[in-house]
Order: sequence, then structure tokens, then C-alpha cells
Amino acid sequence: MARRNPKPDPTRTEVLDCMATACPNCGKPMWVDYENTRIIVMLTDVVKLRLRIRRCQNRDCERYHKPYRPECEGGWALPKHEFGLDVLAVIGNRRYRHHETVGEIHAFLREQGVVISERSVTNQLDRYDELVALSLQANERVHQVLKQQGYGVLAVDGLQPDVGHEVLWVVRECVSGEVLCARALLSSSGDDLSGLLDEVKQVLPVPVVGVVSDGQQSVRKAIAKSFPGIPHGLCHFHYLREAARPIYEADRHAKKPLKKQVREIRPLERKATKRDDEMGAIIHDYCQAVRSAITDDRRPPLVASGLRLRERFIAIVESLTRMREKGGCQPS
Ligand SMILES: [Zn+2]
Repeated sequence: MARRNPKPDPTRTEVLDCMATACPNCGKPMWVDYENTRIIVMLTDVVKLRLRIRRCQNRDCERYHKPYRPECEGGWALPKHEFGLDVLAVIGNRRYRHHETVGEIHAFLREQGVVISERSVTNQLDRYDELVALSLQANERVHQVLKQQGYGVLAVDGLQPDVGHEVLWVVRECVSGEVLCARALLSSSGDDLSGLLDEVKQVLPVPVVGVVSDGQQSVRKAIAKSFPGIPHGLCHFHYLREAARPIYEADRHAKKPLKKQVREIRPLERKATKRDDEMGAIIHDYCQAVRSAITDDRRPPLVASGLRLRERFIAIVESLTRMREKGGCQPS
């Protein structure tokens, strides 16, 4: 099918890691073997996912060299899909709660800035219908996959298009990447979700050995109720994102006044390049140091850009001070 809209450029990049570092089959270490990238069109942005894929290195293991993908990948989009689950949730919501036509949904999404064709909206709506009609009980193929695997690691994601709207819950099996069931529930209370998880548990042909989620209070409670005693991991991405939010905001604010102070760096640099003495070269080097400090963006919460910028500026000022003490530079 010819694509009329060019694929949009990503607006941000996310690196997804596997939570499990040991092979779920043999328990031996799995190495990060290679990276896959996927571009996902989400409601608010276009995300480039860099997936760090692990593989078991034990030749005697059934999962030898079988790729193990980051658990939270499926929370972004369905396998091989270009649109995010949040887009899918909105399309389903607007169709079935607001009774909008495909044209209306398309117009709404375009208004939100989502690059999507009307035809894709139709396709997504079909996917949505398939998704919520998924019956684990009747899905012989998934049963076979899981039976062969012998266990299941569940991932639970809740997509809420808007505050007050119904939540599209998607339950996946992480090792096989299969979507087990999806349901749009009006409330995101733990009881409703627990009911859904109980259904999954009843028809699952294998024991659940672990559950992954974003760790919302209601989700945590529901998982504890339906899968008592089963290890429950928080998806690293969500965990870090939640932790990062206040830090990121504070850091961003702290960075602004710092950057403001070096706004005049370019004219200074231009002047320096016109000089052909040693001092010109030195000034030029300092300007470069300042410029590289400004662009040295780090990823919160592990490293804060603002703090890093401050450290680098302090180092530059200290160096300038040392030079002045030696009598090598006139304050300007
Ligand atoms: Zn293994």
C-alpha cells in the first residue's frame, strides 16, 4: 500500500531495557545482544524506541539465542504497529462512547497533531475491535505457545485517553509477546481490574511466575489480590519517568538562568576568531568549552542536565580565575 503521508520524524527517543537479566527458562545470564528501533506515533509525540534485546547464551537451553524483548515494549504499541496504544484507546473511546464516525475521529486526531490518515483510523478501529474481542479461552494458538513455554510473565497496562474516560486495559505475556486480553473498563478501580486478571488466570494454561506493571496503586492492589505471592516488578521506564518528573522540572528551571548568562558567547567567539594572537585562540577554546557545556544534555533522574551545566561552568570559571591569578588575562 502506498503511503501518502511521509512517516513523521521522532520527537523524542526512549531506550527500553529488559527487566529480566537472567533467562526465564534456565536462569543463566542473558546478554544485551543487539538493538532494535521502532517509531511509534503517539497522541502527544512521535517516539523512537530503542529496544535493547537480550538473548540467552546457554547452548543447552531451549531459549538459546531466542530474543527476549523489553517487557514494557508492548505497553507502547501492539507488535509491528506504528500507532501507540494510546491512539488506539482514543479511537475506540471516540467510536463507542461518543459514537463518532471514522471521519470525525480522524479530524479529532489531526486536531491533536497526530499524523494519521483516514484509512489508518479505519485500520486502527479494526485492530481495536479485534483487541477487545480477544478471547484467551478460544485462542488455541496462544495456548500452544504458552504451553510450550511452560510459564507466563504478565504485563498489565492501562491506557486512559483522558481523565474521566474509560481505561483500556491490556494484559500481555512478556516472554512470547502475546496479547492475552484487552478490556475497556469505565473505572480504573482495583476491583474491576482484579476481575479481569482473575479471568486471565482461569483460562491461562500455565502458571504465572511474575507480573510487570507501572505500579499504580490500584494496579498493585489488583495484582496482589489476583496473584498473591507472585513477584511484581515495576517497569523501569515508568518507574524512572515518575521519579524523573519533579526532578526534571526543577532542573529545567535551574538551567534557564545559567544559560542566560552565557547568551553573548557567539559574538565573543566571532571576535576571538578575528584575532590572530595566542589570546584569540585561548578565548576561542573557552567559548567552545561553554558551548559544549550548554549542549551537554543529560537524562534525568540519573543525571540532571542543570546540575551538570553548573559543574561545567564552575570548572570554566575556576580555570579563568587561575589564569587571571597568573596574570594571563584581563577581565573583560
Ligand atoms: Zn536460557
